[in-house]
Amino acid sequence: MTTDRYTGFVSSGFGKTLSRRLGLPQPVELRRFEPEQPLLDGPIGLWGNDQPLDVVTDLIRAEGIEDASDGDARLGAIVYDACGASDPASLDVFPARIGPALKRLRPSGRVVVLGRPPESIDDPARAAAQRALEGVVRSIGKELRAGATANLVLVEPGAEARAESALRFLLSSRSAYVDGQVVRVGPAVLPSTDWQKPLQGKVAVVTGAARGIGAAIADVLARDGATVVAVDVPAAGEALAAVANRVGGTALQVDVTAPDAGRRIADHAHGRHGGLDVMIHNAGITRDKLLVNTDVERWNSVLAVNLESQLRIDDVLLAEGGLADGGRVVCLSSTSGLAGNRGQANYAASKAGVVGMVQARARQVAERGITYNAVAPGFIETVLTARIPLATREVGRRINSLSQGGLPVDVAETVAWFAQPGSAGVTGQVLRVCGQSQLGA
Ligand code: NAD
Repeated sequence: MTTDRYTGFVSSGFGKTLSRRLGLPQPVELRRFEPEQPLLDGPIGLWGNDQPLDVVTDLIRAEGIEDASDGDARLGAIVYDACGASDPASLDVFPARIGPALKRLRPSGRVVVLGRPPESIDDPARAAAQRALEGVVRSIGKELRAGATANLVLVEPGAEARAESALRFLLSSRSAYVDGQVVRVGPAVLPSTDWQKPLQGKVAVVTGAARGIGAAIADVLARDGATVVAVDVPAAGEALAAVANRVGGTALQVDVTAPDAGRRIADHAHGRHGGLDVMIHNAGITRDKLLVNTDVERWNSVLAVNLESQLRIDDVLLAEGGLADGGRVVCLSSTSGLAGNRGQANYAASKAGVVGMVQARARQVAERGITYNAVAPGFIETVLTARIPLATREVGRRINSLSQGGLPVDVAETVAWFAQPGSAGVTGQVLRVCGQSQLGA
C-alpha cells in the first residue's frame, strides 16, 4: 500500500527522474510484513569486536539466513555486535567494515548494532565507546536511503538470550517505520515463544479500537493469535462492532473515562474469554489551542482520556481478578507529546505523562513478570492527519529519515512486538515509531 500520492509519484519512472533533478525527497515503498515472508530480504553481513553473541548466530542458523559478510552480494541486513567495544579505538569497525557494507544494503535493508547499556559501565573508556554507538547508529539512520533503517539494541550482561525478540523485530519488516531508535533488553524469565503466532491463547483488550491506529492494533494482535476485546465509546458502536467481527473478537462499548471502566473491562475479558493477558491503552483525543487560550475544561478533557483513564483502569486491572501475571501493557504516547508542540500543551502533558507512568508501573509490577511500555508514533496516515492543511501535512510527512508518513499498521506491529511473550526483557521503555522524525525528544 502506498502511504501517499507523492510516494506513488516518485516511484514511477518519470516521477523518480523529476524529483531527483529537483532535489526533492525520495521516499520509497517500505517492505512491510506479510505472513510466510522470510525474516530478511537477502543474506546478512555480520561483524563483531569479539565473537558475535550466540543469540545472533543461533537466529541466523534457525532462519536459514546466508552469511555474506565477505564478497559483494547485496545484503538484507547488517548486524554489528559491538558489545566487546572496549575503547574508542575499537569503533573503527564502522569505517573499516560497516561503511563499505552499507553500499551493499538492499532497499528496506536493516542495520542492527548490539551494545551494552553505557550507564552501568564503570570503565570510562568502555562507557565512552558504548555510548558512542548511539551517535553512530542515529547518524547511519539519517544517511541510509531507500527505506533502510538502523537501530541499536543495548543488552544487559546476562540478558543475551532475551535479545532474540528485539532482534527479530528490528531485522524484520514489522519494524518498517522504526528508525534510529535504541531498545534495551534486561534480564527476565523467558517464556517460550511461537514466533509465527506469538499471541496464541492470549486475551488482549484494545481501547479506541473502532478506527485508526486502534483498529490496526486489533487486526495485528488477532493475526498474531490473540483473542481481541475491542473497546470504544458507544457513539462509535457500529464501527466497533465491525472491527470486533473482522478480528473474530468481541466489542465492549465503554468510555475509558467512566469510573467503572476498569471493572467493566476486567469483567468482560474474564467473563467472555476467561482471562486478560494484554492491555493496550490506545484511546486518545486532541483539543488543540495555544496555552494562553486553553481553559481548564479543555485541558482536563485531554488529560482525562489520554492519561488519567489509564491510571484508573490499571489500578483495577493490577488488582486481583485483572491482568494475569506475565501480562503486557502498552500505552500510546506521541512524538509531538515528547518533543512538545505548539498548540498542544495539554496533549503533550498527557503523552509525556504516559511515559512517566509507564516507567513507574514497570518497576511496580516487575516481580509479577508484567511489562509496561509506551509507543510514540510520529506522523501516521490516519483520518486525523488527513485533515491537517496540505502544506503543514507535507512538512509533517517529510521531516523524517524515510521521507514519508507511517501507516497505522507500523504502530500496531510495534505494539504487538511489546505484547509478545518473548519481549519479557523489554520494559519501562518508550519506542518511537516515527521514521526517525526530526522532532526531538
Ligand atoms: P483516532 O481519533 O482515529 O481514534 C481514536 C479512537 O479512540 C476513536 O475510535 C475514539 O472514538 C476513541 N476514543 C476517544 N475517546 C475515547 C474514550 N473516552 N473512551 C473510549 N474510546 C475513546 O486516533 P488515532 O490517530 O488512531 O490515534 C490513536 C492513538 O495514537 C491516540 O492515543 C493518539 O494520541 C496516538 N497518536 C496518533 C498519531 C497519529 O499520527 N495519528 C500520532 C501520535 C500518537
